[in-house]
Amino acid sequence: MNKNILIVNPDRCTGCRTCEIVCQMKNQSSYIKILKNELFDVNIPTVSIKCNLCLEKPLCVKFCVAGALQLASFDEAAILRKECKIGLFPVPLTIGDKRVR
Ligand code: SF4
Ligand code: SF4
Repeated sequence: MNKNILIVNPDRCTGCRTCEIVCQMKNQSSYIKILKNELFDVNIPTVSIKCNLCLEKPLCVKFCVAGALQLASFDEAAILRKECKIGLFPVPLTIGDKRVR
């Protein structure tokens, strides 16, 4: 089954910005940005629609040692969503071969 949905888990994000650096090195511009809220001391990874998942070998996932980013199939993403785990935000890019946004 294709794993083509990038899932971000802000609960695990340390704000190290390694993902931004590796994406910038690969694409000359980072398609992932970490938004930090100082008041609540949380980091929220956000992904641009320009992200192409590094052609299904996402560098940001590979280098995120905190495990805040993961690649999932549509079914896996649906299960995670159904379980309503706090802080999980599936970022759908494609379903099958069809780009959804
Ligand atoms: S590499 Fe992972 S832990 Fe570090 S800022 Fe990016 S998402 Fe957060
Ligand atoms: S999957 Fe690749 S292009 Fe997309 S945000 Fe991660 S490093 Fe950047």
